Amino acid sequence: MSDPAAFTPLVAPPTGPAEPSLYFAFSQDRLLVHLEGQSARVPILGEAAELGLPVIRQQYLGTLGQIHCYSVELPPDAETPQGMALKGLRQLFGLLEEPLFWVAGRAVQIVNWDRTHQFCGQCGTATVSRPTERAKECPACGLLNFPRVSPAIIVLIERGRQFLLARNHRFPAGRYSIIAGFVEPGETLEEAVAREVREEVSIEVSDIRYFASQPWPFPHSLMVGFTAQYAGGEIRPDPAEIEAAAWFTPDELPDLPDGISISRRLIDWFLAKHRA
Ligand SMILES: [Zn+2]
Repeated sequence: MSDPAAFTPLVAPPTGPAEPSLYFAFSQDRLLVHLEGQSARVPILGEAAELGLPVIRQQYLGTLGQIHCYSVELPPDAETPQGMALKGLRQLFGLLEEPLFWVAGRAVQIVNWDRTHQFCGQCGTATVSRPTERAKECPACGLLNFPRVSPAIIVLIERGRQFLLARNHRFPAGRYSIIAGFVEPGETLEEAVAREVREEVSIEVSDIRYFASQPWPFPHSLMVGFTAQYAGGEIRPDPAEIEAAAWFTPDELPDLPDGISISRRLIDWFLAKHRA
């Protein structure tokens, strides 16, 4: 028996008669779900046409446990069928079973990539999907396009019993988190950590260590989490991005990110270590 929560990405759709499958249908990044109180379900159908909505494109994603999964692009103005709702993915965290939430995160990225790579970016010819890998190829000039994944680093900086939290201008009122930023072309992950910390709060770090990673499909990031040690300098927030930054101890904490994010996992790891 395969693990019912394990997802296997596949490209070639199954042949043979249609089996009941999970359909992750999106209209402008909103997922079509059955909503029942505090839980949401992804429709299980024989084919996308059963939704009764115009299907622009569909993609085969692979299997979740034994169940085939498809993503579907609906028109931006798709009407919601009776008893269903279109919801932004972040709103669905905690409402969808977690394995389904993360497949939906894959699905929305594949739908968006498929929509925006119908034509070659080099010569404008209509592209064709490769049968055996997730790629689109230009039949005229041969340019290959793969789904875009944008690596970003996130780092918890330790200073004994203290750790650094910062407040971005875009955060909800009162919310603090740890330092994060996109990796630049040509940079190692460790260089990105040191640069982002220097740029955002003007301090130096050492002993940069990998912690864990997490896909972040808003819109197509891969968050790579690190811990680091404070190595010198005074906190001076970059006024363009950071409204405030300071050292905190586990005893006095501001409003923190919710459980969906790797930032919260890093913070909880630090708090558990020092509350023990
Ligand atoms: Zn081309």
